[in-house]
Amino acid sequence: MLNIALIAHDRKKEEMVNFAIAYEHVFAQHRLYATGTTGQRIMEQTKLTITRFMSGPLGGDQQIGALVATNEMDLIVFLRDPLMAQPHEPDIIALLRLADVQGIPVATNIATGELLVKAIERGDFAWRELVHKYKPGAV
Ligand code: PGA
Repeated sequence: MLNIALIAHDRKKEEMVNFAIAYEHVFAQHRLYATGTTGQRIMEQTKLTITRFMSGPLGGDQQIGALVATNEMDLIVFLRDPLMAQPHEPDIIALLRLADVQGIPVATNIATGELLVKAIERGDFAWRELVHKYKPGAV
């Protein structure tokens, strides 16, 4: 079971919901995390259970970043809006930087998101289970 973070900027939320609906059968087998509104929208339109953090502009990206920093997040699908400036741009950059620190796969558009989900389906990231299993303090 992988830990997957889902984040979508406002004009990408519908795309994210459709993505979650299309791959609900895959996502249902993993632990999902999301920023506030993204998680709410997905839960309203699927049967998925999601741990929701703060809304992105209020610190949700940073909360997900904290899990990335401790190497607990396995994959991020972050549908960013490339055409609109975001007030929390520094938080977004910080999250992507931490993902690179840990070498965590990040999709910032739907095409890469689909590739990652298909990789999950194939079991390509199953080795990440070992990271969780042998994490210091794990039982
Ligand atoms: P939200 O946060 O899911 O709460 O909207 C994401 C964002 O817009 O940064």
